[in-house]
Amino acid sequence: MSDESAEVVVVEDEEDLAFLLRQNLETQGYRVTTCGTLRAARHALEGARPALLLLDVNLPDGTGFDLLGELRRAQVWTPAIFLTARSAEADRLLGFAVGGDDYVVKPFSMAELLARVAAIVRRSQLTRPPEASFPTFRIDFERYVLHRVGQEPAPLTYLESELLRYLIERPGEAVSRNTLLNEVWGYDRFPTTRTVDTHVLNLRKKLEEDPKQPRHLLTVHGIGYKFVA
Ligand code: CA
Repeated sequence: MSDESAEVVVVEDEEDLAFLLRQNLETQGYRVTTCGTLRAARHALEGARPALLLLDVNLPDGTGFDLLGELRRAQVWTPAIFLTARSAEADRLLGFAVGGDDYVVKPFSMAELLARVAAIVRRSQLTRPPEASFPTFRIDFERYVLHRVGQEPAPLTYLESELLRYLIERPGEAVSRNTLLNEVWGYDRFPTTRTVDTHVLNLRKKLEEDPKQPRHLLTVHGIGYKFVA
């Protein structure tokens, strides 16, 4: 773990909320940069290596989805949590599709948000093996990229990468959805274990030759999932 405190970049145009987030995050020991527009955020992120992004969706000059899409296309894999008043499933899925790791609907509990932030930052700072290699694929856990033989590299979200890592570290072991929520997401108040299923489905699309007939990420009926090399 580094001595320097982790930086969180908050992109939020509601000034009261941005202020409240800054105060709470600083109390937890993070360095905080707040931006009210995409333009300001692009500027703040030049050359910066924050531990986490907190992104509002509706901003004066675009959306948080736009910004994260730009960053992911530029191969920037900083973990991101969306903060938004939108709660429709379609928006939630769009958030994950552009590479977001989590999604918090306003008004949210500050304690819960801080727990999610702490879980992601803590995990991103642990010293662990940087990759896992198998005959037909390799996962780069530091850059969140899946390399498959003969295919373009596939970016993983932070949580997809951590979920895969957790299962790979326990080959053949059936792990329950609740265990995955506690150990990978790092808090136990997430509204639904379906989140785990959504992430596994997305991972299979990237990892498996035939996502409908998975050979590595297997469902264990009545329990959860297991990884088989
Ligand atoms: Ca807003």
